[in-house]
Amino acid sequence: MSEGNFASGKCLCGNVKYSISSGPDRMGQCHCEDCRRTSGTGHISNAFFDINAVTIEGETSSYSTKADSGSTLTRFFCPNCGSRMFGKNSSKPNIISVTAGTLDNAEWFKPGFIVYNRDKPAWDFMDTSVPTFDEMPTA
Ligand SMILES: [Zn+2]
Ligand SMILES: [Zn+2]
Repeated sequence: MSEGNFASGKCLCGNVKYSISSGPDRMGQCHCEDCRRTSGTGHISNAFFDINAVTIEGETSSYSTKADSGSTLTRFFCPNCGSRMFGKNSSKPNIISVTAGTLDNAEWFKPGFIVYNRDKPAWDFMDTSVPTFDEMPTA
């Protein structure tokens, strides 16, 4: 386990903490129904990292669903305060996503794409300069 120096974060109650040792592979936002329900708002904002770059302290609970692609998406949250923190996709076992809202300092966060834009609520306003896709691009 490496000591992170790129970024750190925690859940609302502080029982789950994490540190990140290097920068993200990519960053994006998703409006799909699952992401809306898990975030409780119009979209989720995720930064994706190499799984070895993220060190997690504390117990999480998880909940899994099937993605449209057929792979299994697992979300990890604090069992005490409910903060939604991490995500894993069974088709990409070396990648972990971190929700941008749980970062201690997210000034570096800049989404490179917005997916499932067809499910975007009219009241959720996004950066129009970010490339936007109706669903999940396959390429
Ligand atoms: Zn918590
Ligand atoms: Zn989604």
